[in-house]
Amino acid sequence: MNAWLARNLVYRPATWLRGERVFGLLRRYEASQWWSEAELRRLQEDALGRILRHALRHSRHYAALGREAGLDAERADAGDLTRLPLLTKPDLVEHAAAIDVARWPGTYSWKTTGGSLGVPVRLKKDRSATAAEQAASWRSYGWYGVRPGDRQARFWGTALGARARLRFRAIDWVLNRDRFSAFAFSREDLRGYYRRLVESRPAWAYGYVSMLVQFADFCREEKLPLEALGVGAVVTTSEVLAPGDRERICAAFGAPVYNEYGCGEVGAILYECERGTLHLMAENLWVELIPDPTESRPDAHRLVLTDLHNRATPLLRYDVGDRVVPAAGCACGRGLPAFREVFGRAYDFVEAADGRRFHGEFFLYHLEEARDAGMPILQAQFVQERPDRLRVRIVPGPGYREEDGATLARRLARESGERFEVATETVGGLEREASGKLRLIRALPAPRGGPSVGRTPQDRAERGAG
Ligand SMILES: [Zn+2]
Repeated sequence: MNAWLARNLVYRPATWLRGERVFGLLRRYEASQWWSEAELRRLQEDALGRILRHALRHSRHYAALGREAGLDAERADAGDLTRLPLLTKPDLVEHAAAIDVARWPGTYSWKTTGGSLGVPVRLKKDRSATAAEQAASWRSYGWYGVRPGDRQARFWGTALGARARLRFRAIDWVLNRDRFSAFAFSREDLRGYYRRLVESRPAWAYGYVSMLVQFADFCREEKLPLEALGVGAVVTTSEVLAPGDRERICAAFGAPVYNEYGCGEVGAILYECERGTLHLMAENLWVELIPDPTESRPDAHRLVLTDLHNRATPLLRYDVGDRVVPAAGCACGRGLPAFREVFGRAYDFVEAADGRRFHGEFFLYHLEEARDAGMPILQAQFVQERPDRLRVRIVPGPGYREEDGATLARRLARESGERFEVATETVGGLEREASGKLRLIRALPAPRGGPSVGRTPQDRAERGAG
């Protein structure tokens, strides 16, 4: 679709229909990025006071915490935030219902996120928060010469169920993007992807690092001239962008590569600017940095976030589980707080005996479908025991039956094209890595090298509107 038409006759009316003021906010955010740090901080502190009072008044969870801390729900302000405890991912899973604030249907959407804990986390996001997230993302894509409506090649998850697939197709049409599944891809699939790219001529590409690296390598090996397609920018997300990966993607596409960092719970957090500095989406998020030095990065901090706009599931002092290294500022002149590096998140592939690769999201989707169908699964972990054999470790909830595990195993085997023999077992709890992290996937090393592996997903494939 023509970019102007897509922007003005499809996407813009769609945002109005959903009650999301994306374009109005985008104009504001394009201006506020140049404000001084002090001006931005005032804006943040006002919003922080508002969301804090809202949570103390209307969320059962925060009302209780506020009482314990002796906070006054009517007078609390930004300075009181740190009197509340940190919210961890397990807290969010456990207390989601109590954190939620009652909202009219149609004023929020559900977001599913989580991977690394072995359970998806579901939370509500209200329309204004979704609009703020999208405005911040479009503002940053603008740094790369991308505007709303520009044709996008999206290397991303695809839905497994028919209904979800239709929904994704509609969202992709509204946002003028062409989707390339990151779940399973043989060389034939990749060749087909290249042919589709030649037809759709995207202005930019977006997707998982691992998938883009894989595709870039394939095109180089097959001498397919990806760089001749005129892709203007590549934005990578959801995984660590190692310098070597950046170079491979950049060389193959003949386009600059930019890193996006976000999580499903709060959306986009950091974007890389033209100078290579990561900037905080300060209009949407309040950040606290807790020193957490490591051997190689004495400057590392834990990243603790407060979502300034989501009134449906307020997230205050949320510890996303990642680390950042702050920067003193950036020569680009933006007042948005600057960071040199973000790390701690990563992704897993499972490679079958025939070389076909299954992205971590593939397993997460199946787990979520099983839960949606009513299977009481608290946590699960997918362990590749042999190239053709998977074991699913399940922490069962009340009412779990052996038949549930058998159904999940049959589905996985079928959807993998019978590449895996799948067994399930129930366990009392999942083992943690030495790092303390729970991993959704434990894959065997890929026999043919391939992209860097040994990583765990943080994001559910679709973020917000998808
Ligand atoms: Zn900058």
